[in-house]
Amino acid sequence: MSNVFNFSAGPAMMPPAVLKKAQEELLNWQGQGTSVMEVSHRGKYFMELITQADKDFRELYNIPENYKILFLQGGARGQFAAIPMNLANNKGKALYLNTGHWSATAAKEARNFTEVDELNITEQIDGLTRVNRLDFSDIAEQYDYVHYCPNETITGVEINEIPNVGNAVLVADMSSNIMARKLDISKFGIIYAGAQKNLGPAGIVIVIVREDLIGHARKATPSIWNYEVQANADSMINTPPTFAWYLCSLVFKDLLANGGIDTVEKRNAQKAALLYDYLDQTAFYHNTIAKENRSVMNVTFTTGDDQLNAKFVAQATEAGLQALKGHKVFGGMRASIYNAMPVEGVEALIAFMKKFEAENA
Ligand code: PMP
Repeated sequence: MSNVFNFSAGPAMMPPAVLKKAQEELLNWQGQGTSVMEVSHRGKYFMELITQADKDFRELYNIPENYKILFLQGGARGQFAAIPMNLANNKGKALYLNTGHWSATAAKEARNFTEVDELNITEQIDGLTRVNRLDFSDIAEQYDYVHYCPNETITGVEINEIPNVGNAVLVADMSSNIMARKLDISKFGIIYAGAQKNLGPAGIVIVIVREDLIGHARKATPSIWNYEVQANADSMINTPPTFAWYLCSLVFKDLLANGGIDTVEKRNAQKAALLYDYLDQTAFYHNTIAKENRSVMNVTFTTGDDQLNAKFVAQATEAGLQALKGHKVFGGMRASIYNAMPVEGVEALIAFMKKFEAENA
């Protein structure tokens, strides 16, 4: 094992045990003398793999039976378009809750397909960003669905409480916090997530969709974006990203073998608490998100000085703490501490931050 810790926002670090397992069976998967990526997706072994992956993911995340799990391509952005194509066909209008870059980008894409009302639900108080509204039950039912992003990856703004949309359909982009903690899936119409942060490698996107929402796509919906077509074809209307799917299946197995989501949730809370507690007691670094909306997955901080931030990132990289540069639209630093990040990674980061502070304050 190297002593490098990778804080990339995505594609992000994978569980080392998963990479090792993939390495071990790379040349000879299921005793076939070939790798998983060289066999038919419709063959016996791959079909067994996807059946087991569906079962494991359901068990891990407690997904009710009346939900289908689709493993698709085109990333989360593909879903920005797929969702209105599949859902916005009754009232012809959708509500998008804006908490930052990704929810705004989803709304922009949706406008290509439907009328969109967009509500900014954040405010700045004393230099801190907070989410100020989560009850939409009075307005939600005029819309085909309400879309939000419970974890804005760039700024690190997270919404823990599930928005109240009455009987309307709630859609969540959980690309950066899927499976970070237990969740009542039954509150959602659709949950989708690009895999490349908490679930596996880039190239595959998971869509958890309530069955009654399948079958209402508009006529011009491309087959690969049509939930009904994909659900009826085991997410294989075309050749699927088999290697990415395989790696996701290994991640699910690894999580199940290591205590499941309870363990993940506790470890995530522990990691975030360590880092935010440190940030709260130093005047050298600042986090600009209100406590109740601080992300457990993406912890942003800054020294307030661009040159010092650049020096921090360069020296951290040299010390084996990789990919801490913040997103270009937000600046500063960002430590993405997804499920696969061990507590030791966060401890190493804090030790480095203390040292850097002592040398530069
Ligand atoms: N939504 C969120 C919350 C994200 O973090 C990202 C990527 N960082 C996306 C959507 C876009 O995902 P993709 O690149 O898979 O299309």
